[in-house]
Parts: sequence; C-alpha cells; structure tokens
Amino acid sequence: MEKTIYLDHAATGPMWPEAVDAMLPFFTERFGNPSGICKPAQDARKSVEEARRKIAQALGSVPPETIYFTGCGTESDNAALTGYVNAVRSAEPGKPVHIVVGMTEHPAVLETARSLEKQGVAVSYAKPDADGVITPESLKAAMRPDTVLVSIMYANNVVGTVQPVAELAAVSHAYGAVFHTDAVQAFGHIPIDPGAEDIDLLSASGHKFGGPKGVGFLYVREGLKLAPILYGGGQERHLRSGTLNVPGIVGMGEAARLSAACMDEAAVRIAGLRDLLEQLVTAKLPDVTINSKTVRRLPGHSSLTIPGVTGENVVLMMNLRGICISAGSACTSGDLKPSHVLTAMGLPEKACYATVRITLGAQTTREEIEAVAQALIEEVTKLRSMNLG
Ligand code: PLP
Repeated sequence: MEKTIYLDHAATGPMWPEAVDAMLPFFTERFGNPSGICKPAQDARKSVEEARRKIAQALGSVPPETIYFTGCGTESDNAALTGYVNAVRSAEPGKPVHIVVGMTEHPAVLETARSLEKQGVAVSYAKPDADGVITPESLKAAMRPDTVLVSIMYANNVVGTVQPVAELAAVSHAYGAVFHTDAVQAFGHIPIDPGAEDIDLLSASGHKFGGPKGVGFLYVREGLKLAPILYGGGQERHLRSGTLNVPGIVGMGEAARLSAACMDEAAVRIAGLRDLLEQLVTAKLPDVTINSKTVRRLPGHSSLTIPGVTGENVVLMMNLRGICISAGSACTSGDLKPSHVLTAMGLPEKACYATVRITLGAQTTREEIEAVAQALIEEVTKLRSMNLG
C-alpha cells in the first residue's frame, strides 16, 4: 500500500504486533471451543480466562468475573442499556422506567435509547456545555424519581472531551439509578477505575486500543443483574450466548495489557504531538478554533473548526496527499448531516460543516505531524482562495 499518514485513530487503528502474534495459534492448531471439555477446549478456555484477567487488571484490578466478552463496542452498549432496562422491567412489571443518556453519545447508545423509547421507556437527554462536558448540574436537571439508568460516555469520539465520570456516577446513585459509561474511546488511552469511580456498567471495543475488530467487552459490577439480549447456549454465564471469539479475545486481552503498560508515557507523548499540530496550524491560520481545548481531552484528539472551508473538502484534499483525517461534520460515513455532537455543544451549523477531526496514535511521529500541519495549511489556503468552502 502507498505510504499514508494515518491520523484517524478514533475510527480504528493498527493492532499491536504482539497481540497479532498472540492470536495466530488460535486460528489453527489451538482451535478449541472453550465451552467443551476436551483438551483443545480446555486450552482455549484457559487462554480466554487469561485475557479476562488482563482486561480486569487494566481496569484498576476489578474481579475478572465482572468482564463479559461481546462482539463489539456497539453490542456492549446495547447489552448494557437494553439488558438493564429489561431486567428492571421483568423484576417489577408495570413500573414506569426512565433513562438518561448524553446528547453527545455515540449512535450505539443513542439508537438503543430510541429503540427503548419505542418500547415505552421514557428517555431524557443530558445537555453538554460548549466544551462537550456534561456537568453534574446538567445531569441533575435530567434526572427523575423513576430514572433507573444513566448512560454518559467516558470520552467523546468527535471532540475527545473526557466526562467527570465519578461525579456523574455519584449523581446517578443519589437518584437510585445505575451508571453506564461507553468507554470505547477511552479504555486503553487514559486510566479508568470502575471501583474508584463507582461505575456500574462499562463498554469497550478491542479495535480502539490496538486489538482486533469484532470483539469487545462489558464490565458489569458484581451483583448487578442484566437480562441477556442474545439467547442461545448460555456462554458468558448466561449473559451473552454465542461461541466465544477466542483469537479475538486473546488479541484484545494482550492489547489491553500492552496499552495499560505504556499508557502514561504514550499519553504524554501523543498529547505533546497533538499540541504541536494545533500550534503549527493556528500559527498560520489564526482563525481556526480548537474545540474542547480548555477541558480534559483524550491525548490524541484534535477537533478543528476552520472558517471558510468545509471539513469534507479538507478531508478529500488531504486524502489526495495520502493523509487520512476525518470530517467532524458527519456522524456516520456518507451522512452529510452536521455532527449531533458539535450541534449539541452549540456550534452554529456552518461551523459544524467546517470542522475536521484529527486523531493521533501510538505510532504517530513528529515528522508526520509537521507534514500534516504543512499540508493542512496549504490545502485550506488553496480552498479559501478558490472560494470552494
Ligand atoms: N462507542 C463509541 C464512543 C465509539 O467511538 C464507537 C466506534 O467508533 C462505538 C461505540 C462502537 O464500537 P464498535 O465499532 O466496536 O461497535
């Protein structure tokens, strides 16, 4: 493949080579189904449990039994929201059920909430401030006496804003609701400790931290009851049926271990490169705004609003130069609606369309950042001069 500079790590990224190596035998000679009792099955089971321990350790040493393997981050979000609401409804039929989700959630949460709404669940949406932060006050304003669940993402995929999760969990608990967080963008990049932060449910996805695609996990606090959303053989202690994706789980476990081991060093280095990119760009294009700059952000995230151009055009021009970034204007690829995240933060429609997202990864170098800044300045200048927007 032609050399590209890849700065779209929030979408997905390369795997840790060690995690690939760890997976490989499980496609061939170590093929057992971990539900069985024969030797290959036991071998697979042992490796699955080892991966569970690695993930539990990366989450502030929660008990390994609190980790349930799933097929992706989306499934983990669905399982948390639908699973908890259905558990409440079957325990207390007829009880009015209300949930609160953040306005800036990923569609994996928002669409699940909408589906529950169609099934009679009342849903409120907690509003973020101009930096994308959902404050405890904003959450309180959305809470009701019948709120059973709150879902606020740990860190946002568009702007990188990190939420005050421990405080939001405390508000939820004060109202008797459980607290779920979609940590798909955060896990493996910043420290997370469900015990210390009092998180009840947490979703994550392998491919966002150097593991494989098509595998995720759900943390479920000990003692919390969820109804399954998949019915079948009862694997994963009856919460998630389906033959386990052993290679994927092994790769994800190893990626969790490796990410945790170098997290502090990586976060400092990556945030330094991200800040350099923003300095270089704003030095030459002083009217560029950096979204969520003054609040805690993921180390690799940069969301830039560039007046006079459209994010889509910038992304296309950069792509022609072999540079991958993404437009902050689209919430899903091919969707030209302004991002619901930027809209919820109060950006005017024009600014939403003029936004790009640049997300760095562990392999990003200073040379790449300098080249990207230069290319971005040139392409924006060109687009502005052509008045193409
Ligand atoms: N939640 C967030 C915040 C995400 O960024 C993503 C993917 O981009 C998902 C959920 C979905 O994860 P997956 O791709 O594993 O289904």
